[in-house]
Amino acid sequence: MLKVNTENLVRYKGKWKKKTVVAGRLKLIERNKETPDVARVEKPTTILRGMRLIDPNEVNKNMICSNCKKQLSFNHIVEEKTMGFHYIWTMRCDTCSTLTKCHSSKSHFNDGAVRSGAGCNALRKIAMCIDMPVLSEETYKRYEREIGPLIEEAAKDSCRGAAAEERNLVIEHIDTLRDKL
Ligand SMILES: [Zn+2]
Repeated sequence: MLKVNTENLVRYKGKWKKKTVVAGRLKLIERNKETPDVARVEKPTTILRGMRLIDPNEVNKNMICSNCKKQLSFNHIVEEKTMGFHYIWTMRCDTCSTLTKCHSSKSHFNDGAVRSGAGCNALRKIAMCIDMPVLSEETYKRYEREIGPLIEEAAKDSCRGAAAEERNLVIEHIDTLRDKL
């Protein structure tokens, strides 16, 4: 018969556990409580998890404290607002505590994303693989409505151009063609 030494067991979260295991767990909890808050604050920000599409020159120019003109960095970001492939970062200066808004680029990549013709689902899949914020379906549709007619017009122009070019080529080589036919 299996003999259990109950002396070494203790009830922990509704289950019987070895006393040494429970003691270790409690010690770990205590140690975590002791960790000062400052350690968490000083860690690099996790707001920018994953990848982003940015214009580095523009970001460098924008990452300057609006009050004391100190050069800021990604670690100063306290909030991120994403608009598809465009981001607005709120940054807190560690010298004067002023909040400055920084744009990730001058223009949106959103219309380019729609123009690519990849489609909303394909874009989402790519963005998911690299852990990057992506256009919402509503935003994609909005851009599609704005850009759609322009793309259609450009396609028509291109067709008209090709037809005219073909016509000119025929006229240009009419004698050669007449001989051959
Ligand atoms: Zn400042």
